[in-house]
Amino acid sequence: MTGKSIGIDLGIKDLAICLDGKTYQNINKSHEVRRLEKVLKREQRKLSRMLKQNISGYRTVGDKRFPLYIRPLQECRNFQKQKKVIKLLHRRLANIRDNYLHQTTTEIVKTKPSRIVMETLNVKGMMKNKHLAKAIQKQKFYEFKRQIAYKCQKYGIELVEVPTFYPSSKTCSCCGCIKKDLKLSDRVYKCSQCGLVIDRDFNASLNLANYQSA
Ligand SMILES: [Zn+2]
Repeated sequence: MTGKSIGIDLGIKDLAICLDGKTYQNINKSHEVRRLEKVLKREQRKLSRMLKQNISGYRTVGDKRFPLYIRPLQECRNFQKQKKVIKLLHRRLANIRDNYLHQTTTEIVKTKPSRIVMETLNVKGMMKNKHLAKAIQKQKFYEFKRQIAYKCQKYGIELVEVPTFYPSSKTCSCCGCIKKDLKLSDRVYKCSQCGLVIDRDFNASLNLANYQSA
């Protein structure tokens, strides 16, 4: 145990940022994941083309539309093959993401802090934002937190959850004043009181690390 307190700020740009300024990149921005997602899109288009070619018309029941297939889908061997290709791509992507989460959470825990501070996740609230929803889903915040929680338990690290209303992003980590007009798009935190200029997420992680529960 180092007696250190680590704050973890989960984000969209990077997956997480810790006290010592170490950031863990968003795996979905890595070269390999991007490449695989491109391949996946291409293969999915191929599948839908195959499907379209096998449709002769539509049958309407109530307000729903059902396609009429020229050949039953079970008999279309190339279509079934293509479905398998896509399934495997999905699995490969899922594996990369899972491995990365395990690597990251293990690495954080292995720095042997005495406590880890994280915000309570308001994933439901975040999911209401359409642009964020997809990114959050892919980053698996819940799973990240679950892993941190059980690994903390395993190594005897205290895990502190900070309520969502705690202004970890809006507070200056240097003088403690609160910047009320901080926007989500402000990537750099500039304090008007003490003049501190700091990366927004890093500032948040510092505040989390120094959090004192009332
Ligand atoms: Zn300040």
